[in-house]
Amino acid sequence: MSNDKPVNEPREYAGAGTLFEGKFGDIPFESPVSPVQLGPEDPFRFSCHPGISCFNECCRNIDIQLLPYDILRLKNRLATTSYDFVARYTVPFQMDQHGMPGLKLCTKSGSRECVFLGEEGCTVYTDRPTACRYYALGSMGVRRKDSAEVEDMYFVVREPHCKGHEEPKTQTVDAYRREQGIDKYDAMNREWRDIVLKKRSSGPTIGAPSGRSLQLFDMCSYDMDKFREFIQTPGFNGIFAADAIGLDRLLEDEEALLAFAMRFLKQVLFGEMTIPQRAGAREARLEHRRAHIRERRVAAAGEERASSRAYDMPADGGDETQEDDRE
Ligand code: SF4
Ligand code: SF4
Repeated sequence: MSNDKPVNEPREYAGAGTLFEGKFGDIPFESPVSPVQLGPEDPFRFSCHPGISCFNECCRNIDIQLLPYDILRLKNRLATTSYDFVARYTVPFQMDQHGMPGLKLCTKSGSRECVFLGEEGCTVYTDRPTACRYYALGSMGVRRKDSAEVEDMYFVVREPHCKGHEEPKTQTVDAYRREQGIDKYDAMNREWRDIVLKKRSSGPTIGAPSGRSLQLFDMCSYDMDKFREFIQTPGFNGIFAADAIGLDRLLEDEEALLAFAMRFLKQVLFGEMTIPQRAGAREARLEHRRAHIRERRVAAAGEERASSRAYDMPADGGDETQEDDRE
């Protein structure tokens, strides 16, 4: 039996992050989201099949956020690089006020139709993104105030064009997720979702991430080809020994590489030290950083001196050299 709960009651969600935007308590009255929270064993009525009158209607008006594993699957499906896939098939957006980078799937020019919708339907069906697999369910990760655990919650998205809700078939959320092959996608994206939620709920004490952190987040989330190159650079290998990280396997197995990228992000962003570093690497990196800061200060001081000299330049356009020459 369903233990459905109305979602507009006050709740104890902290951060209330979601990969699909908004939070339960914020769902507007006119939202297509059914105001019922579902758990994995809760049933809901829905069926989608090629014979249905609205077939592919949902692909003609999309707003789909892509997750790291979606991008891995799609770029391999299209036999291209992650950089090329992101450039050709995605639109960037900011996931929060600190500029955490997100990507949405492109639409065709001048319409809201998915770029992968063809005459016969989805042209990337067996590699379709997580959001397409879930629809007409939505999913949400919620962290309670007093817990580090992130709970999975689900809700039904009920849009007028979708006739699947009128079909007689009823199944549990878990059965639907299995049928749609979602387990693998959720497993591969779970660490990333947790990172995003933790970053969102970390509050002003942690502060805005640095530009460097955002770049690393972008690479680790959406550009596995670049990350593969990154872990082979001398700078990276000076800190992490190839044997300790299992470099050979990471270079051959992209799913292992993505999982490693998430561990690396957690280490960089939250100090969760799960990847062993070479002895003395931390001290060497700190010294390198100090030297870099010193160099930047010296360069900035030089620029400041040059600009104050420029400010003193005579109004007749002469310069110090000419002055010197005249003396
Ligand atoms: S039933 Fe809903 S999900 Fe299926 S094709 Fe129609 S609009 Fe899309
Ligand atoms: S990827 Fe496929 S299923 Fe998803 S919106 Fe595009 S055409 Fe539809």
